[in-house]
Amino acid sequence: MITAAPSPIQPAALQPPRWQHAWREAVRDPGELLSLLGLDGLAAKVSAEAAAQFPLRVPRGFIARMRHGDPDDPLLRQVLPLDDEMRRVPGFGLDAVGDSAARAGTGVIQKYQGRSLLVTTGSCAVHCRYCFRRHFPYAEETAARDGWHEAIALIRADSSIDEVLLSGGDPLSLATSKLAELTDALASVPHLKRLRVHSRLPVVLPERVDDALVDWLAALPWPVAFVIHANHANEFDASVDAALSRLRQAGVQLLNQAVLLRGVNDTVSALADLSERSFAAGVLPYYLHQLDRVAGVAHFEVDDTRALALHAALAARLSGYLVPRLVREVPGDTGKRPL
Ligand SMILES: *Cc1c(COP(=O)(O)O)cnc(C)c1O
Ligand code: SF4
Repeated sequence: MITAAPSPIQPAALQPPRWQHAWREAVRDPGELLSLLGLDGLAAKVSAEAAAQFPLRVPRGFIARMRHGDPDDPLLRQVLPLDDEMRRVPGFGLDAVGDSAARAGTGVIQKYQGRSLLVTTGSCAVHCRYCFRRHFPYAEETAARDGWHEAIALIRADSSIDEVLLSGGDPLSLATSKLAELTDALASVPHLKRLRVHSRLPVVLPERVDDALVDWLAALPWPVAFVIHANHANEFDASVDAALSRLRQAGVQLLNQAVLLRGVNDTVSALADLSERSFAAGVLPYYLHQLDRVAGVAHFEVDDTRALALHAALAARLSGYLVPRLVREVPGDTGKRPL
């Protein structure tokens, strides 16, 4: 028998950060996910084809927030590949938001005045079934690929850009040192006034908010807007609260964007709970998005009439600052379009 030589004990600084361990431990097998939840009977509705197209991926901490034995759990619905995804529905295509047309350079998408969005990486810690990026070749199209050179050059050359958005994939799936490499280079661009981070990781993998990340954020030379992505109040627990509290201590402004999803959060009480729970964690609601119409997500769609009625009922019930803006992304528009 051949045995691997024991690896020498590494000094702490050389060990991968702890969050990467939680990342690697994510569940990728639908059968394992269902059996963890006592839902083996649901296996017949899982689509191997959908899972091959966009694999299941879900961190164990997020699974722990799902209700055992509930096939309709709102967190489970967001990650489980079902047969419904393979139905072809007219109007649901491959690039619903016009990202291909708005590409300014490798991993740089510029749609709106003053804002440049960087696709920093193609990877995410969780794969959300409704994601509009499920068909876009983001993995080959990242701004990090050439050491950020093209992205920095484009931003430097356009003095109308005063805000850079780090998006993806999930920007926090990059190592903090890689993010620091980017912001160190951006710090020499005189016209930048704000930085924005769009990440679902504080919710799905709160381990990611470690000392190194907080130190990096706290030292940035610009005010930072940090937009998390939670669709349901059950996505919050003590570990998420702690991660968000640390982000706030780093001085960032926390906002939440959610997607309106049939069977997940399409009731007034689910949306009100989400706003209230977000605020309790120090996060202000920002956007409630109408779904981007990409192939495979039609079963999540809420029609505009119902979406508007839900939003009106929400506004009638909550404090004004707890009501997110209901928007949709329309290719060619100058910003997200209010419904
Ligand atoms: C959504 C989006 C933004 C940000 O829009 P805000 O309304 O400022 O949140 C910027 N760039 C791109 C390409 C976007 O899709
Ligand atoms: S975290 Fe965001 S980008 Fe990643 S799969 Fe989910 S919705 Fe898509």
